[in-house]
Amino acid sequence: MDFALSAEQQQIRDMVSEFVDEEVVPVADEIDHTDEFPQALVDEMAELGLMGMPFPEEYGGAGLDYHSYAIGIEEISRGSGGLGTVVAAHTSLAGNMLYEFGDESQKESYLTPLAAGEDVGAFALSEAGAGSDVPSMETAAEREGDEYVINGGKLWISNGSVADTVTVFAKTDPDAGNKGISSFVVRPEADDGFIVENTEEKLGDKGCPTAELRFDDLRVPEDRLLGEEGEGFVQALKTLNGGRITIAARSLGIARAAFDEAREYAGEREQFGQPIGEFQSIKHKLADMDTKIQAARMLMHKAADKKIRGEDYIKDSSQAKLYASEISREVANEGIQIHGGYGYTKDFPAERFYRDAKLNEIYEGTSEVLRNTIGDQLLDN
Ligand SMILES: Cc1cc2nc3c(=O)[nH]c(=O)nc-3n(C[C@H](O)[C@H](O)[C@H](O)COP(=O)(O)OP(=O)(O)OC[C@H]3O[C@@H](n4cnc5c(N)ncnc54)[C@H](O)[C@@H]3O)c2cc1C
Repeated sequence: MDFALSAEQQQIRDMVSEFVDEEVVPVADEIDHTDEFPQALVDEMAELGLMGMPFPEEYGGAGLDYHSYAIGIEEISRGSGGLGTVVAAHTSLAGNMLYEFGDESQKESYLTPLAAGEDVGAFALSEAGAGSDVPSMETAAEREGDEYVINGGKLWISNGSVADTVTVFAKTDPDAGNKGISSFVVRPEADDGFIVENTEEKLGDKGCPTAELRFDDLRVPEDRLLGEEGEGFVQALKTLNGGRITIAARSLGIARAAFDEAREYAGEREQFGQPIGEFQSIKHKLADMDTKIQAARMLMHKAADKKIRGEDYIKDSSQAKLYASEISREVANEGIQIHGGYGYTKDFPAERFYRDAKLNEIYEGTSEVLRNTIGDQLLDN
């Protein structure tokens, strides 16, 4: 067992960390304030190979292992939680759907520009009436000759209003339950009937547009089907399983930002003639915050390790995401507490970290649903 990063992994951390400190941290408050998609940062990340970290170089990616990819997402999210979602949804969800389930021609046409960062990707699974309960989705794809006609809508789709490629899940056999779901590559620019209805106003995660989409007789050629008809549900579960490792990474990044800020503040703020960090209660808060971060990171890398080895990692990625997301919110909460009144204002980023952290407990499997998954795995259900 080796807990040290390899030289390559350390190099990735250093490179992304430097980029984040120089380019992301200085504009993070502005992104939070304007809620605008940070296209300039996405272009810079494309140059650095950060828009296709885990994909092979032959498909335009950086060819990094999953540990390095998670490290990259952790660092990016340390700078901006919204940017963390932009990259994670683009890579772990949209990109991975194409990498795992696309044929060679689909990979070449759609994955390569995503991995190179020329295109942005989104993953459209959730609907107004179908969040945790995916099989109750109503979006339908009917076959007509050599095309599919998609009708329906999706809700809360990260990058949904800016994406060039969207992987859309729809029922091809409405009577077959989860076995009747299929997935398609949709190209919003070229495909008539792709409508962005709205982008949400959110508590946090600013800069990553969360879109409501409508498909109105959206026609796609049959070669946009990913895999076979009926495989969409299993594809979604497998994709989310890998995605959860990167939501653990996003959680960790935000927790670290909250911790670093609080530790610095504890050394500077004086009350009763001494830095507040000298009060035992503050010291203990910092000790607990760091301990939780260290533990969450181990769970994340354990899940990544199993994924790389090709072992079953459903329980591991669920535990990593569940724990990291909850400690992220707890650490951010303590970050505000250590800042006292200043923490509740926009004078310090502590409140942004708290708002950004909360999302981790909701998307890509709520904490309640993940506890069901972990419990089922433990009980062999
Ligand atoms: C900012 C943001 C970005 C998102 N990005 C995407 C995206 O890119 N693509 C995408 O497809 N989706 C995305 N989502 C959707 C997200 O995955 C869903 O919101 C999430 O899966 C929960 O579904 P829901 O909101 O319908 O809640 P519900 O499923 O209605 O859950 C409501 C509550 O009931 C609980 N609950 C539900 N079922 C159970 C159960 N079986 N046992 C115990 N408790 C249960 C939940 O845990 C929760 O507390 C995003 C959401 C947000 C907020």
